[in-house]
Order: sequence, then structure tokens, then C-alpha cells
Amino acid sequence: MSYKHGNIISKITAAQLIPENLLLYDFGNTPQIFQVEVDPIDFCNHNCGWCFTSGFRKDKKITLIDLKNYLTAFCNSGGKSVVFSGGGEPLLYQEIYSASVEFENKSICKYLIDNGASIGIITNGYLLNKLFYSDFSITDLAFIRVSLDATNEVLHAKLHNTSKKDYSKVINNIQTLLKFRSNLFTPAIGISFVVDPFSNINFSREQIKDINKLASNLKVDFVQFKHIHTTKKESAIACMNSVHSHCLEMNWNDTEFWIQTYDSANSSFQCLISQHIQSVGNQSKKFPCCHLFGRTEFFEQDTFLPIGKIVTNCYNKVCRYNEMNKLLLDNFTNKKEAYKQVLETSIKEVGFHPYRYCPTAPNILEPFKSQ
Ligand code: SF4
Ligand code: SF4
Repeated sequence: MSYKHGNIISKITAAQLIPENLLLYDFGNTPQIFQVEVDPIDFCNHNCGWCFTSGFRKDKKITLIDLKNYLTAFCNSGGKSVVFSGGGEPLLYQEIYSASVEFENKSICKYLIDNGASIGIITNGYLLNKLFYSDFSITDLAFIRVSLDATNEVLHAKLHNTSKKDYSKVINNIQTLLKFRSNLFTPAIGISFVVDPFSNINFSREQIKDINKLASNLKVDFVQFKHIHTTKKESAIACMNSVHSHCLEMNWNDTEFWIQTYDSANSSFQCLISQHIQSVGNQSKKFPCCHLFGRTEFFEQDTFLPIGKIVTNCYNKVCRYNEMNKLLLDNFTNKKEAYKQVLETSIKEVGFHPYRYCPTAPNILEPFKSQ
């Protein structure tokens, strides 16, 4: 199933993407975690230079029993979406797709699906095939994003610091995944590319052309571009604008492209998002968001349960929830209903994903060719 809006066909709905769909829930001002990003293991079978855990990777996992307790409390308290991600390759945590006693002889995905949670997985793609024959159907997942970063095996091996043969396995996995998904609605399937103008990675017109060709051949639902972490915010924004203008020149057929611009945490250093979204990982610890991963000082760590609070001293250089946070800080009670309505109507009528139209979206450049 897909939805049409003008010339745009989308398989991606707001129900699959976050944090904007916080608006769909009755979140009020009471701390309640609706979404959790689980980074279950900090080890990775690849070794990208930009990986934010590369400096503190200690091959640590969240223990299964901690994760079970956390996710059970999360589901019981009305939690909606779980994203498995890294630093670290989440699919190295095999209980995600294999049954364990701790999870009632189910895989973690199956356990969450049975408890009504949406699941997204962000992976380097090498172990994607492990999801194909599990105790859940691949179509029960909400989205899968593969951090591909390159359009050929030589560059992929260089950037991911891995063997050349990995690239074709990852591409095969994506193709098989698309075949299993067929023309069903879920999961939304995308690939992502880091952008690094300083090393000329995924930045020039020729490179974007190669990405466009690959995405069109694969027929993935979306391509995401993200700048590497940097202190040079202005140049990062200019760079993403340039990538955007290259993208606009090309025909992407039904593939959406998302170009995320660069934003740092708001000047008040206050974050209300941290009441509703949480990252967990690294030795069963809680963090306000993945960008503060590794910094435990923001939350008390005496229990490993989905409890959020307002963060009052975030001066992080990159914040992907800034737009939504600004609205929360603005106490947008009056506007909330109106925004919610826009979101609900759009889901009903065109099934859009919120990055495209929703006023709460993070800074992202218009993802389509101008009509
Ligand atoms: S694939 Fe992802 S988790 Fe693994 S090293 Fe690269 S950025 Fe880090
Ligand atoms: S970077 Fe800071 S402001 Fe942004 S979501 Fe994380 S804690 Fe909140």
C-alpha cells in the first residue's frame, strides 16, 4: 500500500517516524517516555572513523534481564516506539531476532510486537539476513535504515574500515529485504550516507549522482544524508544546502531524499524532549538522547527504568530534536491541537512522513523536487 499526494507516492507514515509523532500522543507536561532508542551493544563489526562510540567502545552489552525489565516497564506505561541503533551494531545483539528465556522464549522484536510497540532498526546491514527467518515477520517492523555511506565496495571498505566483500553482502541483504517487503506497507526501507565536505565524501555532484543511481536501482523508500559531527556549524549548513541543490537536479522516482541540516541545542540549554524520549545502552545506562550518549551525568542511574526528566544544562553541538523542543519550550498548548490535526489529517489522507510537512520537524530541507 502506498499513498499519493500530488506527484508524490509515499510508503512512509508518521506512525513510523519519531519524534514528531509525539504529537499523536497525549504527552502533556508529565514525564513519560514514549520512544526509546536502544543501543544494546557498543561493539561493531565495522569501524567507521566518524562513529561516535569509537572512543569509548568496550564491548559492553545491556544485560538481557535489564533490557527485559526496561522494555516491559516501557510497554506497560504506554511506550510507543523502540529503535535499535548504535554506536555499535545492534544486530550483534542476537536476542533481537533470536528467542531467549528472559524474553519468554521469544525474540525481543516479537516480544515488543506482541506488546504493541513499533520497531525501527538502524544497522550497517551486514547482519540484516538474520531478521529474515525469525519468529516475527519482517513486515511487522516499522522501518529499517541501513548506514551504507558508499556506492562501491572500495569506498565502503575504506570508510567502514572493513573487508571489500562486505559491500556486496549488504547490498544483497537490502535487495532481499525489499523482496520480502514486496508491495506491503512496512517496513519503510532506507539507506543513509554521511556527508563530509572536508574529505569530499558524498558531497560532489558526481557522488550524489552515484547515490541517486544506486537508490533508483534498488528502489529504496528513502535516502538520508547527514553531516558528520563538527564544530563548524555554518559550513555544515552550507554544505548540506549544496548537497540539497544537487539532489534537486536529479530524478528520484519514488525514493524520498532527506537532507538533515545541522542544529545545535537551543540557547536556553533546556530540553523538554528528554521527558519523553530516552536512549539506553552502554552498561545498562540511561541518556537523554543518543547525542549525549556516554554522558551519564544528566540522569540519575540508580534504576534502569524508562523515567525521563527535563534536562537543564544541555549545550550539545548537535541536536536532532531541536525544532520539536523549541515548540515544547514555547509552551505551544494552543497550537498543539492544530498541529496534531494537521498530522492526523495528513496521515489519513496522504500517509506522509512528518519530516515533509509537519511544523515540528527537525531542520530538514525540502525533500522533493519543486513541482
Ligand atoms: S557501522 Fe555504525 S556503529 Fe558500526 S562503526 Fe560504523 S558508525 Fe559505528
Ligand atoms: S541534544 Fe540536548 S537538547 Fe537536544 S535532544 Fe539531546 S538533550 Fe535534548
